[in-house]
Amino acid sequence: MTFDYAPALESRSIVDIKASYGLFVNGEFVDGSGTSFKTINPATEEVLAEVAEASDADVDAAVRAARRAHTRVWSRMPGKERAKYLYRIARIIQERGRELAVLETIDNGKPIKESRDVDIPVVAAHFFYYAGWADKLEHSGYGTRSLGVAAQVIPWNFPLLMLAWKIAPALACGNTVVLKPAETTPLTALLFAEICQQADLPPGVVNIVTGAGATGQALVGHADVDKVAFTGSTEVGKAIARAVAGTGKRVTLELGGKAANIVFDDAPLDQAVEGIVDGIFFNQGHVCCAGSRLLVQESIADELLTKLKRRMSTLRVGDPLDKNTDIGAINSAEQLARIRELSDIGEAEGAGRWSPQCELPTTGFWFPPTLFTGVTQAHRIARDEVFGPVLSVLTFRTPSEAVDKANNTPYGLSAGVWTDKGSRILHMAGALRAGVVWANTFNKFDPTSPFGGFKESGYGREGGRHGLEAYLKGGE
Ligand code: NAD
Ligand code: MN
Repeated sequence: MTFDYAPALESRSIVDIKASYGLFVNGEFVDGSGTSFKTINPATEEVLAEVAEASDADVDAAVRAARRAHTRVWSRMPGKERAKYLYRIARIIQERGRELAVLETIDNGKPIKESRDVDIPVVAAHFFYYAGWADKLEHSGYGTRSLGVAAQVIPWNFPLLMLAWKIAPALACGNTVVLKPAETTPLTALLFAEICQQADLPPGVVNIVTGAGATGQALVGHADVDKVAFTGSTEVGKAIARAVAGTGKRVTLELGGKAANIVFDDAPLDQAVEGIVDGIFFNQGHVCCAGSRLLVQESIADELLTKLKRRMSTLRVGDPLDKNTDIGAINSAEQLARIRELSDIGEAEGAGRWSPQCELPTTGFWFPPTLFTGVTQAHRIARDEVFGPVLSVLTFRTPSEAVDKANNTPYGLSAGVWTDKGSRILHMAGALRAGVVWANTFNKFDPTSPFGGFKESGYGREGGRHGLEAYLKGGE
């Protein structure tokens, strides 16, 4: 069965992209002292803007602005006054939600239905949630005193959402921040800087420095930051942990994942298929907690795979601004090369590769939804994080085999369990070494719920009351 749809393009006229952007330091946009780089639309390869690459001196100026703002203004302000700014930012994010969603989709490549219905609403929810904590820190259990200046480095997969996860709790607790967005997706962070101006946030409370790895390194290595918060690859996370060891800086790391999505023979299969699809194809699979390893109980494997293939055949890959699109563009040429390489290795190692018929656009970066069957635990596609729309399928016979296989990974960010039995859900939730376990659903995010990893997926929690711990002096 095929469906024909008329294109339903979201207009991009609501966004006003400047030809070039400076850095946001001490409440103002300033020219960088270094070079610049281009950010592109990965769906078209169109150059969107020229963005300043912050030098060590620029990073230093931003950290000094954050320090002054912390000492003189923000840490002294009563929590209920800080809350007013956070509520104001949250409301402006809602008011400018369509603009933020379109800009996110253009700079990142994700489908507009996701930026519009997931990313931006959850961003606003995060600011509302932590605004509520600002005057209630004595009930947090982690103390009430701020740490100081937070250096925050984030990846490109959820550019504005990762910014919200970092900035909202930091500000609620009275810290000031210097944040570096990823080099392929700086534009919504720069629009957020404008929103800080619109909200009259005191200068220096939020500073945004754009650039690549060297800028991030200068920021986390700066002698005058009190706290480092990083989300990104495990490799860079380890380098950061080494760089800050012994400095007294507090660190939280949110790193990679290789989640198991486990389907038992008593699961509602149609519902499970939706959860599997959402688990691996949401955001092109550029999701640290993506359900990239499907573990199916052997007796239902054939039936489930038939249903899954049928469902995958209905996924629409294409223009991210089209409201019908399910799978948008891969974020960069580098990421596409990595997905291709790991998929080719999967084939070479003997797994069966399958994708539905789908026409991919000829410019931009694209990869079809892909399934690998006959995967064993030794396969690279079962071990390495692909960070793309690629699902590895493994089978199991008993619950204990499912637990062993699910936990056989250096990562531990998330897992999914599909079964009719409540007792089995509780057993699995206890046995799985993962920070989040979803039952009969997947990829549910709420600001009240803590998120974070076991093992090489990192340490520390973001979200919920637990997310305050990383930004307070606690009982120290
Ligand atoms: P990356 O580690 O290459 O880059 C992440 C950020 O770190 C970018 O802003 C980058 O410029 C910066 N950076 C690079 N080298 C640096 C250095 N030496 N010092 C300081 N900063 C540096 O990762 P990526 O390819 O952008 O993102 C994909 C990875 O992020 C995946 O592994 C994914 O699982 C992970 N991720 C994790 C979470 C989570 O919450 N656990 C969320 C999203 C993404
Ligand atoms: Mn871009």
